[in-house]
Amino acid sequence: MKVPFLDLKLQHQAIRTEVLAALADTYDNTRFCLGKDVDDFEKAFSATLGHSRTLGMNSGTSPLHVASICGGFGPGDEIITTPFTFASSCWGISYVGAKPVFVDIDADTWCISPEAIAKAITPKTKGIVVVHIFGQPARMDEIMAIAKQHKLFVVEDCAQAVGATYKGAPVGGIGDCGTFSFYPTKNLGACGEGGAFVSKHAAIMDHAQLLRVHGSPKRYTHTEVGFNFRMDGFQGAALNIKLKKLAGWTARRRVIAAQYRLGIKRNDVQLPVVPAYGESVWHQFTLLHPKRDDLRVHLEKNGVGTEIIYPGPMHRQPCYASLGYAAGSIPIAEKTSATCVSLPIFPELTDAQVAHVIDTVNSF
Ligand SMILES: *Cc1c(COP(=O)(O)O)cnc(C)c1O
Repeated sequence: MKVPFLDLKLQHQAIRTEVLAALADTYDNTRFCLGKDVDDFEKAFSATLGHSRTLGMNSGTSPLHVASICGGFGPGDEIITTPFTFASSCWGISYVGAKPVFVDIDADTWCISPEAIAKAITPKTKGIVVVHIFGQPARMDEIMAIAKQHKLFVVEDCAQAVGATYKGAPVGGIGDCGTFSFYPTKNLGACGEGGAFVSKHAAIMDHAQLLRVHGSPKRYTHTEVGFNFRMDGFQGAALNIKLKKLAGWTARRRVIAAQYRLGIKRNDVQLPVVPAYGESVWHQFTLLHPKRDDLRVHLEKNGVGTEIIYPGPMHRQPCYASLGYAAGSIPIAEKTSATCVSLPIFPELTDAQVAHVIDTVNSF
């Protein structure tokens, strides 16, 4: 039996007629940049996920850049973040000339460790970029308590966690601002590039809205240097349709994750935990195994696609070599990178495919 790691075609074939009709309407009305489709999507996204306002953007990286500006980050500032993430989480920090300070993760959730954050604080610390990795919410109460004590600006990178909750609250609305990515492989994917910015602070939303379109409150008036981070109309139109399906897709991911957690029975595997405080949306289902490369070969031989996410933590990437983190300096993140392997988890997987993945892991 073949079980691809991810097959985006299945989802897009199922909604093809509906999406193409919406795209045709956007085309016929030339709503190419922002416009009604994006407005509608922003309203629906806010209402569905529980945010007061949403700004659609052109990627998940752009709102991270905007977040750094809204947080007042700049040269000389230290921003504490996790090395166990996609590179983009750190880019916002570097774009404004601030310094990423990488700290270790919790060994069970693989999200940034509040205890490690507390130890890394210096007089230069200005903010924290939290990543809800693989769809699993980080320990926000502890993080927000540290932030309050030291007056730090908290950014939540929710690129993998659309719809995840922490103690019932939507991720992205707990810190000072939250960012989302609608890259096609994310749980809510556009038909191209897309992202969003949210904040519980009205003033920050107003600032982000200015930055999104050339720092321009009024046509040809520019109160600050801004960007072109507009979401395009086609993406708004596609996302409007897909957003309606998200709850069902997330529910299916949760069923698959529960089946994996129940069915995979090995003493040498570390499965992802499900903390009582929150609900993951299972962007990835990742497990740790000391011989993960051999396990991958075994899965591959039996038709199961896998990925290593992420093989190299950010503090050891060549782009950050000048920061001087030695091998072994952030041990849990490094061990996780060296032993992780992600299994297929997308809503269209059949029960038979899930059972085959479980049997194949167990027979290794
Ligand atoms: C995908 C991703 C991003 C970046 O999103 P793009 O839309 O590709 O710019 C940022 N952070 C994390 C954790 C991601 O997984």
